[in-house]
Amino acid sequence: MPQKIAAGNWKMNGTRAALDEARATAAGAPDGVLTLICPPATLLPLMPAGLAKGGQACHPAASGAHTGDIAAPMLADAGATHCLAGHSERRQDHGETDADVAAQVSAIWSAGLTAILCIGETLAEREAGRTLDVLFSQLEGSLPEGATAANTVIAYEPVWAIGTGKVASPEQVDEVHDALRGRLIDKLAEGGEIALLYGGSVKAGNAAELFALENVNGGLVGGASLTADDFLPIARAL
Ligand code: PGA
Repeated sequence: MPQKIAAGNWKMNGTRAALDEARATAAGAPDGVLTLICPPATLLPLMPAGLAKGGQACHPAASGAHTGDIAAPMLADAGATHCLAGHSERRQDHGETDADVAAQVSAIWSAGLTAILCIGETLAEREAGRTLDVLFSQLEGSLPEGATAANTVIAYEPVWAIGTGKVASPEQVDEVHDALRGRLIDKLAEGGEIALLYGGSVKAGNAAELFALENVNGGLVGGASLTADDFLPIARAL
């Protein structure tokens, strides 16, 4: 069985005052679920024990003249075990291409971290009936050779559902996750064991029905990961 994962993505939110929420989340995290927060990099070394920690993105190089960027070995040094790659906000705000994302995933692996690779279609792509084509092509282009259940998690995040309050329906999520699972099994020796997360407006009220789906192994949660009161019921729904 793939690992159960409740992953929080704090995005560009949180100063040291937010560490209280991280502590409360750590204190209440359920057994048997990898509860993970990806805070802004400034907070990574300050995060409490009892939670897994992740970066939100990294530069593909291990060090060098790249002002303002953060390298994967720095995230590891700050206590991260995971790092997101290819979040749609990075693809949009920073023009990251599949090739850029693949280079980041390689860097994440080289630093000994697990990559949480994010893929997702836009509303226009869904309405044009291209959802699975888009997802398979992102998977092909942004996941390098060598993915295992230990070094890779895949997060399906429909762009139109992120931060919008519009959650994909269980039927939509089920269809995509089944297709992704099939694809991973076809392509990778450990494809049946790689955790598949759903992300996009996950909340306490919809988590249980999403997590009940066969190929949904957890969630990647933005807004509802910022407080323990919102995040813990989601982790406990796994
Ligand atoms: P959201 O964000 O839960 O606020 O929709 C999810 C994400 O972007 O990972």
